[in-house]
Amino acid sequence: MEKQNLDWSSLPFSYRETSYSYVCNYKDGAWGEGELTSDHTVTMSECAGILHYCQEVFEGLKAYTTESGEIVCFRPDLNAQRMADSAKRLCMPAFPEDKFIEAVKQVVAANASWVPPYGCGATLYVRPYMFATGVVIGVSPATEYQFRILVTPVGPYFKGGDTAVTITVADYDRAAPHGTGNIKAGLNYAMSLYPGEKAHAAGFAENLYLDSQSRTYVEETGGANVLLVDKQGNLVVPKSFTDSILPSITRRSLVTVATDILGMNVIERPVKFEEITNGDFVECGLCGTAAVISPVGHIKAEGVDVTFPDGAETSGPVMKKLRETLTGIQAGTVEAPEGWIVKIA
Ligand SMILES: *Cc1c(COP(=O)(O)O)cnc(C)c1O
Repeated sequence: MEKQNLDWSSLPFSYRETSYSYVCNYKDGAWGEGELTSDHTVTMSECAGILHYCQEVFEGLKAYTTESGEIVCFRPDLNAQRMADSAKRLCMPAFPEDKFIEAVKQVVAANASWVPPYGCGATLYVRPYMFATGVVIGVSPATEYQFRILVTPVGPYFKGGDTAVTITVADYDRAAPHGTGNIKAGLNYAMSLYPGEKAHAAGFAENLYLDSQSRTYVEETGGANVLLVDKQGNLVVPKSFTDSILPSITRRSLVTVATDILGMNVIERPVKFEEITNGDFVECGLCGTAAVISPVGHIKAEGVDVTFPDGAETSGPVMKKLRETLTGIQAGTVEAPEGWIVKIA
């Protein structure tokens, strides 16, 4: 199959229209058939629920070309499950998980010419999302929804590849506590735009959010979970006691990779921000589908100036090993745990 004529190795992380999107409507209590479309616009009522009460959830995964030339996806079943969990919290109907996986396969296969070739550093970003199209004026859940998947080829999320970034600490909460920070929904991102712009204007790559109740524990950054390495070489994974860290599929996969493939000791526990400022950690990284693992060299804020000694300029040894193993699994050069890689074409 002929690939699109693009400069694959210099793609930015941005949207570009591709050949097809997938669309499926929910009406009268049931999902329709669903189909591919080459119409990349959405038309709906001025009174649609999404426009007033923000009923929208989304997902993000990637399609990769392996070393042997196959097109594959990474653990789409977990995206399907998480989207159903997010939908439940916003009183939206779940999109059936098997239908979700079939839709991902169908839309990626139809856009095979847009899947970046092996080894170029780019991937096909797959964005499933669902929003209320039904009309509402009094505050209540809508009764009609649209599920769509758009795909677009992307390069790296954080510029500079392996160069360590500096992040800061947000003065704001990313989401309300008790189970709204752990759903993947545009409303949480809307709340992160203002602190995000402030951080960028001050020269920082991202914000670190602390727990909103006590502002004592580390949660995550705007769109990526946090990983730490302590002085004993343990991988320390922040855990939220208010259940408000987004359950990153990359993070959950890296915990398995570290434990079962790399034989590391992994500790998942609440982490006080004070432990970071005390200098208890030697490496820090941000992980997610878009970020993969991006090394953090410094955290700076008022009265805070932390350097991670083993990864101040580029990835430290642990983050590097984790990234190489994960990207190797996705590229088919490292054996994947059962069920992680789903073949598309
Ligand atoms: C999507 C997302 C992540 C990363 O999750 P992955 O499943 O690894 O892509 C982390 N934090 C937030 C807030 C997110 O929305």
